[in-house]
Amino acid sequence: MAPKVYINGKLYDTDQACVSVYDHGLLYGDGVFEGIRVYNGKVFRCAAHLDRLFASAQAITLQIPMTKEELAEAICYTLGATGFRDAYVRLIVTRGVGDLGVDPRSCKCPQVIIIVDSIALYPPEHYEKGLDLVTVSTVRMPANALNPRIKSLNYLNNVLAKIECIEAGAHEAVMLNQDGYVAECTGDNIFVVKDGRVATPPVDAGILEGVTRHVVMELARGAGIEAVERNMTQFDLYVADECFLTGTAAEIVPVVRIDSRDIGDGKPGPVTRRLLAMFRAHIAEDAG
Ligand code: PMP
Repeated sequence: MAPKVYINGKLYDTDQACVSVYDHGLLYGDGVFEGIRVYNGKVFRCAAHLDRLFASAQAITLQIPMTKEELAEAICYTLGATGFRDAYVRLIVTRGVGDLGVDPRSCKCPQVIIIVDSIALYPPEHYEKGLDLVTVSTVRMPANALNPRIKSLNYLNNVLAKIECIEAGAHEAVMLNQDGYVAECTGDNIFVVKDGRVATPPVDAGILEGVTRHVVMELARGAGIEAVERNMTQFDLYVADECFLTGTAAEIVPVVRIDSRDIGDGKPGPVTRRLLAMFRAHIAEDAG
């Protein structure tokens, strides 16, 4: 078993996989991507990830040179070559090789790259003890500058927020939008639980519409737990009974402290734990 990289139809070992330094994905972050999980040999929510990839590409006028079906097959082909049953897939489409100017018209061939590697799981204590978050001063990119709904290769906004939270000694950063409302974390969506109700910021708050976020809302509603999208301020985080993050890599991870304040009783809460159990059961069912 070994990770593999697919580049425009060919498979490579990781140390042999190369792209041009003239690729506008490298020069300008001009491209889009997805992070996808494979559980027991099955690509989790493949259609939702491909839909989001195509929407991101359309938003930046990037023509993906393959159909969704072809991309799904290419993921399975690459996965098959690794021998992994559980894996992380990084699907990338760059603008391709062009000249040194920003003009995307010099890029004639978008590059399709699929990295299939083993998944680096978060430490178990993150799930047992919960995360410590800090609100950072880096504001989430406004939608009229670069819409966070576009999962682009341009992640500097998130990187700067991550640097701030590392310097503050926290696990993750809460990013606010320009209006001061809670947006999301650097690579995860954020939820609170208040009086038994689950809430997360709406897409209009300037967030990535997370695939895991959607699954969690579905699971909550299916279990009779009210789940709503609403704008939140730091106040809503501080007075929440529980808080958790969702993302492809993280799944559902509890948050127990924000800005040095305990959330609820400072321990992962019952609704969070119940949703995580439901999420893991859903995965087992889906991949079974
Ligand atoms: N927000 C951001 C900024 C992200 O990069 C991600 C993905 N890592 C998420 C939220 C979570 O999305 P998903 O559940 O689709 O992984």
